[in-house]
Amino acid sequence: MKVPVGFTFSGVHAGIKPNRRDLALICSDTPCAAAGCFTANKAKAAPVLDAEQRLPSTDARAIIINSGNANALTGPAGLDDVRTILEQTAQALGISPGAVFSASTGVIGHRMPVGKITSALPNLIVNLRPEPEASAEAIMTTDTRIKTATRSLQIGGQEVTLSGICKGSGMIAPELATMIAVVVTDCAIQPSLLASALQQAMVTSFNSLTVDNDMSTNDAVFAMANGRSKNPPILDPGSDFSRFSSALTELCCELAREIAADGEGATKLFEVRVAGAPTDEMARDLAKAVAGSNLVKAAIFGADPNWGRILAAAGARAGSRGYPVDPFQARVRLQDVTVFDRQPMVDDPTSLRSKMRSPEIRAEIDFRAGPGHATSWGCDLSYDYVKINADYSSLIVQTPEGGVGKDDRLSNYSPTFKASLLVEALSYIAKFSGKRCVIKYGGAAMVKDSLKKSFCEDIMLLWSVGLRPIIVHGGGPEITATLEKLGGKAEFVDGIRITNASDVKVVEMVLTGAINTGLVTLLNQEGGHAVGISGKDGALLRARKITGEGGRDLGQVGEVTRVNREFLEMLLNQGYVPVISPVGIGEDGLSYNINADAVAAEVAAAIGASKLIYLTDVPGILRHGELVSDLTAKQLANELEGTEISGGMKPKVKSILRALSGGVERVHIIDGRVPHTVIGELFTDRGVGTLITG
Ligand code: ADP
Ligand code: MG
Repeated sequence: MKVPVGFTFSGVHAGIKPNRRDLALICSDTPCAAAGCFTANKAKAAPVLDAEQRLPSTDARAIIINSGNANALTGPAGLDDVRTILEQTAQALGISPGAVFSASTGVIGHRMPVGKITSALPNLIVNLRPEPEASAEAIMTTDTRIKTATRSLQIGGQEVTLSGICKGSGMIAPELATMIAVVVTDCAIQPSLLASALQQAMVTSFNSLTVDNDMSTNDAVFAMANGRSKNPPILDPGSDFSRFSSALTELCCELAREIAADGEGATKLFEVRVAGAPTDEMARDLAKAVAGSNLVKAAIFGADPNWGRILAAAGARAGSRGYPVDPFQARVRLQDVTVFDRQPMVDDPTSLRSKMRSPEIRAEIDFRAGPGHATSWGCDLSYDYVKINADYSSLIVQTPEGGVGKDDRLSNYSPTFKASLLVEALSYIAKFSGKRCVIKYGGAAMVKDSLKKSFCEDIMLLWSVGLRPIIVHGGGPEITATLEKLGGKAEFVDGIRITNASDVKVVEMVLTGAINTGLVTLLNQEGGHAVGISGKDGALLRARKITGEGGRDLGQVGEVTRVNREFLEMLLNQGYVPVISPVGIGEDGLSYNINADAVAAEVAAAIGASKLIYLTDVPGILRHGELVSDLTAKQLANELEGTEISGGMKPKVKSILRALSGGVERVHIIDGRVPHTVIGELFTDRGVGTLITG
């Protein structure tokens, strides 16, 4: 991403949140004009109270932002904490405390763990880079993705760049609905003009946004301009100013849309355009009323083309505010379909309903009563919004190290929630008994200790309720690391590891000697019954050499020719959980490294498994970066022809097709980076990743 000259960014984990980045720093090499816009909430957080009184400024250098703790409603101590953070940051950067500003987001009413922030400063500063992604990540709270935007324009023959980062995603309300955003630019502009450009940008961007009508204590938007692009400074509100101002507005609108689309629990972005109102202000207020209506939002979630609610919400607002508009004269369009034009329009509800399943929903109302128009953004209201927020505060606990964490033990939830969860789970248990399920264990789930533990807990729980799991593990990063340690290097062709004769010893050593035993030990700590076997034991996996495309020699890489089914049956019948390392034995007596995805598929087909689950490092099969939830074997085969499936996903997809043709009913690809993802998959209706059926 293009960033303005002279700015650097950093984001690290300071320990305010249990295990995610939570501290960001944005710095300019030289002093900046700076401006800010802040929440209208009277219960302002301490960093807001501090920054508000010192902006606009002519010599700002840095902004430090933390997530995980809002430092709001913390009394005079909160302000002391802000001062300490500013002083320590300034000292570490070698600048004056007056040049530093701060912002915070997270839980309200807890003292800030200042020590954690100050100890993280050296690391934070060392990591400063001209790339905003890490800082955009560190300011996230319930956001599910980072939000950045950039614009460039020419001013006085010089290219000027503006870049912004921001975070949502709940407590987003009409009066400055942003949470936190920082826009930096290398434009030379007077501080008061920067402030007025920022104020103008607010109107159509963050102030036109609503996720939940709840106004935050910490909303803050900062702009910093260091003049490094060497444009003739903007000193008056002439044409350069208006061009700069529109670029800033556009950038803020892009960020605002991102916040709406990623609202808490949101599944859809909802855009409302109002035209034909007497003034722009009335249009904006009406648009926000529609975007913020719970009934409208719930309908959007359900893909219900219930346009009556849209006009009703606008009419209610017009009535209560006394706006001279007449809903009976309006035209309403939903997803480009005219649903009302002075009277209901006949349309095919099935086709409109399918248009409503889109991730972006647009409603347009033309009141035919004047030139005023405005656009507002919001999102749908999903079950998850309530879930996220019903639990938020009761589940925030102080951790022993002074940070805050989420206490999500089941005992914290309401009895109704627990009962419905258990009823749902028990109904699955009844279906599982005696069923066989092969799980390919790969990716990060194999590396991170906490994920390993949750995976093993899941497997033993599944076993104890009667499911018969069989695990096939990969080797992934550990093989690569060991090979490199021994002076070799890893090479992959279409997701298959090239394995020469000396590599195969390392592969066996890591797979069978280290990973397999490690996994078996962990599983047995969770309650026993796991048995580690290599494909060579009991000649479980007979293999033959394969070559790559165009006859390329891959070394000792093989494919399964036969699975010793009787051997597995024996283990399963005696109640063991087989843990298989994907090494096969050839007719030539050689060991073959076999892709674990393929082994999982062959084993699943051989023992008549009803399910095959691939645990990996992505949410599922992605198309243009978006998760594909359901696929048939035929659709998947088509995907393989295209360009979207590459690398490690290729052998997975081929294996899935093999498993389905071998009689496996359902194959799932799920995200192993999510704790307890296997249970989440098996015990819920909708599942999580990609489901492929025959
Ligand atoms: P594993 O340890 O689970 O076998 P791999 O790295 O071998 O992990 O395979 C998964 C990788 O496949 C993903 O991390 C991703 O980089 C890559 N990949 C390629 N195409 C796709 C796609 N269309 N959808 C998802 N992942 C894909
Ligand atoms: Mg792989």
